[in-house]
Amino acid sequence: MSSAQPGALWVVATPIGHRDDLSARAIETLRAVDVIAAEDTRHSRPLLVHHGVDTPLIALHEHNERDAVDAIVRRLVAGESVALISDAGTPLISDPGFRLVRAALAANVRCIPVPGACAAIAALSVAGLPSDRFVFEGFLPPKATGRRQRLQELAGDARTVIFYESSHRVAESLADMRDVFGAEREAVLARELTKMFETVLGEPLAELAARVASDPDQQRGECVILVAGRGEEADAKLAEGQRIFAILRDELPPAKAAKMAAAISGAPRKLLYEG
Ligand code: SAM
Repeated sequence: MSSAQPGALWVVATPIGHRDDLSARAIETLRAVDVIAAEDTRHSRPLLVHHGVDTPLIALHEHNERDAVDAIVRRLVAGESVALISDAGTPLISDPGFRLVRAALAANVRCIPVPGACAAIAALSVAGLPSDRFVFEGFLPPKATGRRQRLQELAGDARTVIFYESSHRVAESLADMRDVFGAEREAVLARELTKMFETVLGEPLAELAARVASDPDQQRGECVILVAGRGEEADAKLAEGQRIFAILRDELPPAKAAKMAAAISGAPRKLLYEG
């Protein structure tokens, strides 16, 4: 890009930790636009100063998004160029910006991506889990009931599942994943990527949940959790569990039938009977 195109919205990824993970094109774009819409202007300023960007900043965050979007679209339609950044990584990925991009497109404004860091993709790239098909789930519901329900919906998915999680809830979430997906399902905790205490732990869910529960250091910083999809072996176990459950259910209370069918087949009890 030689200069910012008038009337374009540039959606610019910023680092997820290491401040040099800002591309040359991102720096050039941020210098050239008329204004940068940032999630938190105080948070972004040091990064911009470090890279010699002194473009004016305006705030666009979840609390002012509706009003800010109208004002930004007016500027875009009037011919100004605007860059959108979030506190970290790619805007719109568990971050504000969706409303702005929708409104800009509706006003026939060109939206131009300047790609870069994204914690989900960085984690997937080093997790060692199948990466040919994956699903990004963002943050799980914070309360246990909603979280378990969402996990239940995902338990049969054959694709690698990627979650963002707060460090305060990582131990609880891993324990729920172990219960719903089964103790043996492979999982990875990717913490503090590109930062000083970067850690990537890959283990079956039972071991990973136990390790994180017993080590407060693993409950710090920013976390991505990745869980392998349900494999063919798991499919076979589930089919066997369902067959045994169907037989035992005629003779036993369903909860007991599910417990025995799970013990015999190795299938997760919760996938056989939710009770
Ligand atoms: N837009 C960002 C992106 O592209 O990844 C995500 C923003 S979301 C509000 C913040 C969450 O992303 C954190 O709670 C954590 O789950 C994940 N995350 C961000 N930076 C990370 C890092 N350096 N290491 C691991 N996870 C990170």
